[in-house]
Amino acid sequence: LLVNPALSRLLGIDPAQARGRGHLESLRHHGLTELVGEVLRGGRPAARELRLFSPEELVFDAHVAPLQQDGSPTGALVVLHDITRLRRLEQVRRDFIANVSHELRTPLASIKGYAETLRDGALEDKTHRLEFVKTIEEQAVHLSKLVDDLLDLSLIESGHRQPKLTATDLQALAADVSRHFVAAAAERGVTLAPPAAGPSTALADAAQVRQVLANLIDNAIKYTESGGRVEVALETKGSEVIASVRDTGVGIPGTDLTRVFERFYRVEKGRSREAGGTGLGLAIVKHLVEAQGGRVWVESRQPGGSAFFFALPAA
Ligand code: ADP
Repeated sequence: LLVNPALSRLLGIDPAQARGRGHLESLRHHGLTELVGEVLRGGRPAARELRLFSPEELVFDAHVAPLQQDGSPTGALVVLHDITRLRRLEQVRRDFIANVSHELRTPLASIKGYAETLRDGALEDKTHRLEFVKTIEEQAVHLSKLVDDLLDLSLIESGHRQPKLTATDLQALAADVSRHFVAAAAERGVTLAPPAAGPSTALADAAQVRQVLANLIDNAIKYTESGGRVEVALETKGSEVIASVRDTGVGIPGTDLTRVFERFYRVEKGRSREAGGTGLGLAIVKHLVEAQGGRVWVESRQPGGSAFFFALPAA
């Protein structure tokens, strides 16, 4: 009888052709025609969740109510609510909880195992006991880093760490952060080159940019083998200041490039954990940069290394 433009678009219904035809012919969605059929036969309203697969997967909360005139059925009214976003968010939350549990369980299992080994006699084992205690300590440090990162992410996501934007000298800031990493780089046999002198003032939150740079430089050193090089650079281009951290390290395969900013996404799980990574660093970087009105991206050649960039509005 009637169809609005949204439904005709969703189900590919041509109103002129559908007019006067039954629901089986015009709706062409198995779940929906079944639901309408039930309501027409039973005379009672019904609701169900339905999925549509073209052009993309959509989830609908479908409500169908019988229409009556003078007590006799004349048809049914269909109302569809698009709940795709809601269902997706629920899925993201479920995945996140599963990931967090898994990430917490691994170090906890190790702490528990070593503590039991010590209790069951290894305390007397002078050659190994110190090593066991060190492992327990390392795993505890990793756990607390994980919890710190999680709290950080949650503060940023809930808007409790709103950036305070002021004109910030990114060159001085990046040089200072680089200085803090010189020793760590040298220990791994990696050369760390600080940014060249030159004015690069952006509208940014200095503390947050510091955290972003520290994360990127830390990763660059972590994923670069001895003999490699990490370079921090700044460039003012149009209305933006672009910061980059390039390394000559292991690189990132093309298929993983778009996903490294996701929470807990790791290219190689073993290598990241070995290096003490939580898998949250780049997610924090992305949130911090975007909250300051900037953007972040990565380029990688394999072999050849990776280059992480972020752009902030020039001041
Ligand atoms: P992690 O704590 O595991 O380092 P991040 O969120 O900082 O977590 O990074 C996510 C993943 O991206 C890392 O596990 C690693 O596989 C990859 N990655 C990040 N930075 C680099 C880099 N400079 N070179 C190669 N791979 C990198």
